[in-house]
Amino acid sequence: MNYVAISYWRRRDRYYRLVGNRCSSCGSEYYPPIYICRRCGSESLVDVEMPNTGQVVTYTILREVMAGFEGQQPLVLGIIRLENGVKVLGQIVDTPPEALRTGSRVKMVFRKIREEGEAGQIYYGYKFTTL
Ligand SMILES: [Zn+2]
Repeated sequence: MNYVAISYWRRRDRYYRLVGNRCSSCGSEYYPPIYICRRCGSESLVDVEMPNTGQVVTYTILREVMAGFEGQQPLVLGIIRLENGVKVLGQIVDTPPEALRTGSRVKMVFRKIREEGEAGQIYYGYKFTTL
């Protein structure tokens, strides 16, 4: 098992729940979690689960994909603004690219992200699908 794999397994709970954090002082929320609040500078942040629905802010359609993502093209990547205002980058699946719009409502789903190598470890994580 290589470093990436170990780190993945250690953090897998976060992938399945999309846990970010919230500043105890001003209430700002972040994903991925941060250590110092960008708004007020507080170091008091607590884990909080992110909402699982949001809206597409912008997206791009990739017709060439990186190794490990073969067979997934065209691959749609979007920036999603979750209900709490936090923006996350994620793949948008199960939606024909031409049906997608800025402002489309999406929800988070858990899917296979990629396989590593021939006998590959399979990575799962969050993606988005239109509502
Ligand atoms: Zn703050």
